[in-house]
Amino acid sequence: MVKIGVLGLQGAVREHIRAIEESGAEAVTVKQPGQLAELDGLIIPGGESTTIRKLIDKYSFMDGLKEFAREGKPMFGTCAGLILLAKRVAGYEEPHIGAMDVTVERNSFGRQRESFEADLDINGVAEGFTAIFIRAPHIVEAGENVEILAKHNGRIVAAREGQFLGCSFHPELTPDHRLTTYFIEMVKEAREKNLV
Ligand code: GLN
Repeated sequence: MVKIGVLGLQGAVREHIRAIEESGAEAVTVKQPGQLAELDGLIIPGGESTTIRKLIDKYSFMDGLKEFAREGKPMFGTCAGLILLAKRVAGYEEPHIGAMDVTVERNSFGRQRESFEADLDINGVAEGFTAIFIRAPHIVEAGENVEILAKHNGRIVAAREGQFLGCSFHPELTPDHRLTTYFIEMVKEAREKNLV
């Protein structure tokens, strides 16, 4: 069974743990950088990206997270997690982990719609997926190797670049685990490749 960590500094950590377990993989709450080495894949949850970033620095996680990305291990950023994973954040000079070749814009769905639900077709993953957006970012620009998986109102809200998966919404907040299952399959494939 593959072992998937959820960065457990702030945000929707428990919900991701439950979604992973209900999808048949082993889930670990990651509280210390030393735990990263034992994982096959990592989810960076939604929450507040500036807060999570402060805690990443406080607990000396940044080198370990960048190393995890360099090793080719799958990483899935949801909402704030997508902001942390992106190579570029609109309006900011520096990215955070800076791994996935996308530019994201924070809080880009407007104040009056701070939180909403939308039915999405996620290419190759799920049709009719109920996506919960909470002060969500979106992808304003995607590099050439990025596969766009879903759009909402013409805006990119889910994408994959090889080992990296990112979405604007919170897939862990509904019982529909098709996107989590898709990530688990990415992790299984990556592990099999490394074993041979
Ligand atoms: N607006 C938040 C941020 O910029 C993300 C919101 C979320 O993760 N639900 O970090």
